Amino acid sequence: MNILVINCGSSSLKYQLIDSANETVLAKGLCERIGIQGGQITHTPAGGEKVTEQLELPDHVAAVDAVLSKLTDAKVGVVKSLDEIDAVGHRIVHGGEKFASSVLITDEVIAAIEEVSDLAPLHNPANLTGIHSCRKLMPNVPMVAVFDTAFHQTMPKKAYLYGLPYEYYEKYKVRRYGFHGTSHDYVSARIAAILGKAREDLKIIVCHLGNGASISAVKNGECVDTSMGLTPLEGLIMGTRSGDIDPAIISFLADKENLSASEIIDICNKKSGVLGLSGGVSSDFRDLSAASEEGNELASTALSAWSYRVAKYIGAYTAAMNGVDVIVFTAGVGENNVQARAEIISYLGYLGITLNEDANTIRGEEVEISTPQSSTKVWVVPTDEEMAIARQTAALV
Ligand code: AMP
Repeated sequence: MNILVINCGSSSLKYQLIDSANETVLAKGLCERIGIQGGQITHTPAGGEKVTEQLELPDHVAAVDAVLSKLTDAKVGVVKSLDEIDAVGHRIVHGGEKFASSVLITDEVIAAIEEVSDLAPLHNPANLTGIHSCRKLMPNVPMVAVFDTAFHQTMPKKAYLYGLPYEYYEKYKVRRYGFHGTSHDYVSARIAAILGKAREDLKIIVCHLGNGASISAVKNGECVDTSMGLTPLEGLIMGTRSGDIDPAIISFLADKENLSASEIIDICNKKSGVLGLSGGVSSDFRDLSAASEEGNELASTALSAWSYRVAKYIGAYTAAMNGVDVIVFTAGVGENNVQARAEIISYLGYLGITLNEDANTIRGEEVEISTPQSSTKVWVVPTDEEMAIARQTAALV
């Protein structure tokens, strides 16, 4: 079955066409500057050269149209006609409390996604335009919504409630939701398979460490806690996001800097994290590691504050699950940044973990990076959110 996986942002659209029978990627690409002058599509067929074409993309329908043209193109296409696309899987950021798993898209599902859009005003409307555009151009192809929040819906109330007046939860559904759920689900299932155990029999901590970053505690096959909250701003220090801060900082800084609360939140989202902490060096860990090696003290401080926060969350989630069997690193930094992994593991001696330094030089592959003597295992497992979306789409269709 050929599944088109769509990840639609406000001005961009990422796609992959995946053959779910043998789990191969037939083509992938990206539309940029949708609704802005100077649009372009980058398309890469499996085993072929990447092609980039400049073309105006006035709206998302035009972008989906461009994707379908590339997929069926005589030269760079990978299917003969649209009939060979059997289903579409859409990544949807926020499912609120309505969606605890992926669903076939119907008019009712679209209405429900619209209803929770105030919880993710930047993301859900963009995700919805992806759905509407595909429906317009492929009206008879079944579509599935896969939610970033769904995997975390098993969290107990004690984990998802904030210490705020309960009426705000009742009136506005202010609570912790968590994100990157597709990745946490995929990686925790994968590590159980690697270890030859049922996920239901394990206590797993998944560290999804990319530009956006979150940690989850997965006990007996279910997520029991995760570090992101009502929005992806909570939790770890990230590339540009602050993660946890004292909420009183918002009004304090708003007064001092003569800015509104939402302008401060914008700074917390876009100018903070390791970018802000390093005094603007970079949000990219490769640049930060290079600057740190050249003696830039703020870059070093940013990296150590970042790994310290990760280590604290690992401690918290070990307590939440009364132990941990395996800790897994994934996403851009988790899969590739050898120094960052080593620094986090240096805090975890109390869990009986020692680092296998040779194994830890490996990047982007499934590898155990703890020594055989370690009583808690540490692994690297590359995430694959698109493949997970394709699997769930195929299963529902
Ligand atoms: P993501 O958001 O998962 O794409 O992760 C982006 C982050 O991963 C950036 O900070 C990159 O510096 C980091 N990253 C990606 N590839 C590598 C690599 N080969 N070595 C070190 N860091 C990497």
